[in-house]
Amino acid sequence: MTEVDDLFLSRADRRALSDRLRQIPIWLTTELDTAICREVAMSESAAVRAPGETPLVFNDRASQAAHHLLDTLGYWVEEICTLANLDWPGSGRADHYAKWLDWHLIDLAKLPEGQRAHRDIDQAINRAIAAVDKAKQPEFAGPCQSDLQGVACDGVYVRPGQLHKTCDGCGIRCDVQQMQQQMRDEISTRLYPAHELASALSIVTRQPVAYERVRNWIRRGRLIPATTVGEPRFYMSDAIDLINRQGGAA
Ligand SMILES: [Zn+2]
Repeated sequence: MTEVDDLFLSRADRRALSDRLRQIPIWLTTELDTAICREVAMSESAAVRAPGETPLVFNDRASQAAHHLLDTLGYWVEEICTLANLDWPGSGRADHYAKWLDWHLIDLAKLPEGQRAHRDIDQAINRAIAAVDKAKQPEFAGPCQSDLQGVACDGVYVRPGQLHKTCDGCGIRCDVQQMQQQMRDEISTRLYPAHELASALSIVTRQPVAYERVRNWIRRGRLIPATTVGEPRFYMSDAIDLINRQGGAA
């Protein structure tokens, strides 16, 4: 079912897919690269290791997952270009294809293969996330601390324990502990009804959070209302915990 008869992906599907595609350039490819580099570094040292030591299975997984992600995204870019008669955007890395696909979700939604593409891309992203060391997944620290007029940066993501982070958007060095404290202070006491929570989360995390995703948390009992007097209301801090546990906006 879609809101427009000639689309094969609903608005909720497109938003969910967009959320996931945006994770790729924000952190996923960087983390895959890190995992693969670790493999290379450790494979070299493997030459001088004692015989019988365990080979590096984990990082081989990262390398395969990175190829799978690249192949999957590239395949669907090519399919859309061919079937929708669009210009090929040129070969590139997963980031390049992910951004292109995010820009062309309507073109994808017009194809009868849209649902298959959604499943394929979801699977490839899941596999990549699983291959990345979970403990190393960046967490959302807060909006960028830049107070420059007219500067709208993405949210700032840091590794657990990281104290400073230079914003990719504006180059300002952010104090992570201060950001986290500010964010907690601002949002921890505020309550939102479900339909406002997705929009508020999108503003605070500076990345789109689909309403459908919030509804899923509620349906599965992962997000519990803080008050049920009248319309149920939720703490945003609980929702941000869920986002961080799931690895960004995936
Ligand atoms: Zn910034």
